[in-house]
Amino acid sequence: MPVLDEFLAANERYVADFTKGDLPMPPGRHVAVLTCMDARIDPARALGLEEGDAHVVRNAGGRASDDAIRSLVISSRLLGTREFLVIHHTDCGMLTFTNDEIREQIRRDLGADASGVDFLPFFDIDATVVEDVAAIRTSPLLPRDIPVRGFVYDVRTGRLREVTEQTSRSSHTADRPVSGSRS
Ligand code: ZN
Repeated sequence: MPVLDEFLAANERYVADFTKGDLPMPPGRHVAVLTCMDARIDPARALGLEEGDAHVVRNAGGRASDDAIRSLVISSRLLGTREFLVIHHTDCGMLTFTNDEIREQIRRDLGADASGVDFLPFFDIDATVVEDVAAIRTSPLLPRDIPVRGFVYDVRTGRLREVTEQTSRSSHTADRPVSGSRS
């Protein structure tokens, strides 16, 4: 596995310069970020984070799934984060399939029944940011006074654009995904 060898070599170089072995467990900047697993997003570099600064919760789409909420509960309740960011992004893979399509693929290739699994695909990035921000804000497991802000990261420019319920409703324009691509 050549990639593993590269990882281990990179880790040796990382260890050689490593000076952050004494950091406390709670994130120093008291923030948790929920974002997509997309390989083009490097939250540390894009947001200027160092080791020890923030929690970064990642999954396919950066969705506020039950498991993401679980992580945010632990992050805020036990480890002192006081602000959450939700970051989805342009050209997300989650825009390219439907639940039915992936369930059928799994059935065909693996013979398994995924009918009970919601893979949380979506059509509209801005609307989904708003939806996930709302899911976090209204979760009974999280305090209502934690600020939650939503953004779309543009994979072409590296820039974050804030999304609110207002902008989501009014700006259905330029950088929205091609919503017809999943038919
Ligand atoms: Zn994505």
